[in-house]
Amino acid sequence: MTTEKEHQEMVEQARRPMKEYYAQHKACPKCGSLLHSSTYAGFVQPPDTNKVRCECGWEGITDDLKPENWKHRMNSRYPVDESDC
Ligand SMILES: [Zn+2]
Repeated sequence: MTTEKEHQEMVEQARRPMKEYYAQHKACPKCGSLLHSSTYAGFVQPPDTNKVRCECGWEGITDDLKPENWKHRMNSRYPVDESDC
């Protein structure tokens, strides 16, 4: 038996990892644009395989997306692979 309050806590607990998941999966892996999955509504479990299309031409699924500002972070904090040319 679950009370209404317990049920709400369960819902919140189920949502929290999804929020973190989407925080890590919101930018195009090619150009860095922020994209939004059209289906962030119910209880989708990771990985989110909904299709996403970016205006740069990249197409993939939500699970392929990168965290916001991933390009910026990569440039400022981590050196780019120096053997890359
Ligand atoms: Zn893009």
